[in-house]
Amino acid sequence: MRLTGNKDEFKNVWVFIEQRQGVLQNVSIELLGEGRKIADTLGVELCGVLLGNNVLKLSKELIEYGADKVYVAEDILLEKYTTDGYATVISNMINEFKPEIVLVGATNIGRDLAPRISARVDTGLTADCTQLEVDIETRTLLQTRPAFGGNLMATIVTTEFRPQMSTVRPGVMKKADRQAGRTGEVIVVEPKLMKEHVRTEVIEVIKAAKKGVAIEEADIIVAGGRGLGKAEGFELIKKLADKLGGEVGASRACVDNGWIDQSHQVGQTGKTVRPRIYIACGISGAIQHVAGMHDSDVIIAINKNPEALIFKTAHYGIVGDLYKVIPAIIDEIDS
Ligand code: FAD
Repeated sequence: MRLTGNKDEFKNVWVFIEQRQGVLQNVSIELLGEGRKIADTLGVELCGVLLGNNVLKLSKELIEYGADKVYVAEDILLEKYTTDGYATVISNMINEFKPEIVLVGATNIGRDLAPRISARVDTGLTADCTQLEVDIETRTLLQTRPAFGGNLMATIVTTEFRPQMSTVRPGVMKKADRQAGRTGEVIVVEPKLMKEHVRTEVIEVIKAAKKGVAIEEADIIVAGGRGLGKAEGFELIKKLADKLGGEVGASRACVDNGWIDQSHQVGQTGKTVRPRIYIACGISGAIQHVAGMHDSDVIIAINKNPEALIFKTAHYGIVGDLYKVIPAIIDEIDS
């Protein structure tokens, strides 16, 4: 069905709520935070869209995180994620309730789901947005994302069709604050899903063995760059990270050199982090690296080149050889 009709019919901001085995995923809380701002700017409601089986109980939490309404569709066929099942139910809900904006986390599930929905409801989708704003006059969502290998930022708009759909990578937006006791409306939607709508059957979900580190969750990150000069340099980085109770991050140059596993990489093609403290050691501050860490609360850079770009992003800069500066910091912590 083509939703070209009157754009004014489309109202409210929707966030697809991703839950796995009944556990709310952080990206959905981040999108509720961002969605709240957009809904307030547009003067509309923020709605969570929750699918699954026995998931109704999560609605209260979603309302406390800022949703005004939660649409809940429950069915045994929705217990485990399937492309067909979820895309069918959400597309039908969009056709019925006509949201103006739909936000989806760019997780494995979100990356699979969002394009199917946008194709079914015949609208545009902007993937991997890093910034969302609204042009209040035209009610257009300004969807900004890196383009041309991260060398420029493109702002993409969906002018003719509704809803306007975006995916956003986990960790990019700030989590919504939870307000205990906040009230809202829960709308139970009949999924009208038949077995024949779902062409795949998920027999079992087996969690992959945990690989690498989850630096996205870290409060403190000490990150090393090519300035380390060798893989062994990461022993010093780890020593400082351990002293501070933090995790080890890295620039892509180190990953490409095989000095450290990709799970540590921060940046456009790595992870987006926003710790309380980010210490960049021997990292030049290329745009692709900064894209993944510039929202950290406090950024400290150690670099021997006083002209290094990283000093433009850092709150505190130390010009010096990291092999002298880091041991001095460790000594200071120990003393
Ligand atoms: P360099 O740029 O070589 O900088 C090393 C720094 O160390 C220099 O500033 C130098 O002054 C300093 N230094 C040297 N020795 C010392 C010492 N003894 N003490 C103190 N300082 C010292 N990069 C990422 O990090 N993450 C990404 O996700 C990413 N994605 C990319 C995607 C694309 C499409 C492209 C094209 C590039 C991407 N890059 C990414 C690569 C990025 O452009 C840079 O090449 C990379 O970030 C550089 O890493 P670096 O800062 O460690 O190394």
